[in-house]
Amino acid sequence: MENEIVTNKKIRVRFAPSPTGMMHLGNVRTALLNYLFAKQKNGTFVLRIEDTDPERNFDPGAVKIMEDLNWLGLTYDEGPNKPGSFPPYFQAQRTEIYQENLQQLISENKVYRCFCSQEELENKKQRQIALKIAPRYDKTCCKLTPEQIKEKLDKNIPFIWRMKLDPNTKITITDISHGQITFDMKNFSDFPITRQTGTFTFMFSNFVDDMVMDITHVIRGEDHLSNTAGQAALFKAFEKELPTYWHLPMICNIEGKKLSKRDFGFSIRDLQEAGYLPEALCNYLSIMGGSFEQEIMTISELLSVLDFSKSQAKGQIKYDLNKLNWINHKWISNYDNKKLTNLCKVYIEKEFPQAKALEKNIGENKLIRIIEILKPGLTTLKDITQEIRFLFVAPETTKIEILSLSNVDQNSFSQIIKLLEQNLSLLSAPEEFLNKIKLESKTNNFKIKDVFSLLRIGLIGSTKGPGIGELIDILGSKESKNRLEKLINIAK
Ligand code: GLU
Repeated sequence: MENEIVTNKKIRVRFAPSPTGMMHLGNVRTALLNYLFAKQKNGTFVLRIEDTDPERNFDPGAVKIMEDLNWLGLTYDEGPNKPGSFPPYFQAQRTEIYQENLQQLISENKVYRCFCSQEELENKKQRQIALKIAPRYDKTCCKLTPEQIKEKLDKNIPFIWRMKLDPNTKITITDISHGQITFDMKNFSDFPITRQTGTFTFMFSNFVDDMVMDITHVIRGEDHLSNTAGQAALFKAFEKELPTYWHLPMICNIEGKKLSKRDFGFSIRDLQEAGYLPEALCNYLSIMGGSFEQEIMTISELLSVLDFSKSQAKGQIKYDLNKLNWINHKWISNYDNKKLTNLCKVYIEKEFPQAKALEKNIGENKLIRIIEILKPGLTTLKDITQEIRFLFVAPETTKIEILSLSNVDQNSFSQIIKLLEQNLSLLSAPEEFLNKIKLESKTNNFKIKDVFSLLRIGLIGSTKGPGIGELIDILGSKESKNRLEKLINIAK
């Protein structure tokens, strides 16, 4: 497939979302692969907003799309707010360009007016379905004489422009995933170029922009494969070279069904709010469906290992949240502590309003140290609210709970509690305190695991978490002492 990727033209790709108000995983993956493809091949990555359909325009100005791309780090070279050779980059502002190109097709007699009403078209379609014929426009209006056309125009009957396909031709496209695909035009309908309102269809405007923006590779979801025959016919009608296509497999959920709003993570805003890192998301979406020796990769590492000529996956690829979680966890574990602290702060301050005052008290460095200690427990940034809870909320336990949680037998329990009580005063020097506790536990034949369980329950109300020394470090000697005193009182 390498030959299809290599071209002597400068590579230009585009991400062409409709401003539906939400970027979902499929969009993000398409944007990402366009971006990576352009970067690796020294090409240009264009952002073009397909906003001609008012029913799908929920994000005027595509503000959310640009915010999302920015968050993901997918910087475009040309597009809204970025000067480029083919402005404007909002389709709604490109009507004149579509009009000019339609005029060319009209003058070359490659399109015709269709006066059929919606109702007539629907009836024809139902009849064809009943006769078990593939529903296709029957070219009625292609056969109208100039007089008939004039009559209809005089009567102001609304019309649309349709493409005149030659049923005797076949067009072959090259697709990175699918190889060569040949479309036999006799199987396709003369598709609409305009709507009755005079606006242009997706099929036409999307094609015109790809043609006039010199797009060399059309990388988009496989759901657009059905549009490709018509668009390829348009390239031929304009006697232009076809771009290479790459129709990306659709993302499905773990049960193999098309990913939908009900699947967590469908919308990337959900993933962002839940605390997935953009680096992890890009990492996951780039490697999904492939196999890689090393799976945790930065964009520049991905650029050096991705081999687009081997991207032959088609059909569906599975979105596996567990895998994404694993990748996110790895990214968090390796993240710079200061940067991570800044990201975590947003979640902490939202959950614990007292956090701001605390940070002032303990200082930024201490907070960074706390995050560093807690980060092994984070799958997402939001998990920090659970992990750090103990710092803001002292544990509330009963003796029964302590016993069942620690699983220490009654006899050792009272003795360990006594040992803790005797050494509490040493807590101002945590290391000394711990050494003494360890030593005396050994002498008294207490299981060190039991002693540490009780200490942890006293400090944070759980048997799991960071090391005791780290917990004392986080809480400070005074607060640790208060909490252990409380434990001792309850346990007595
Ligand atoms: N505007 C189309 C969409 O949002 C993209 C079309 C294309 O990439 O060719 O699905």
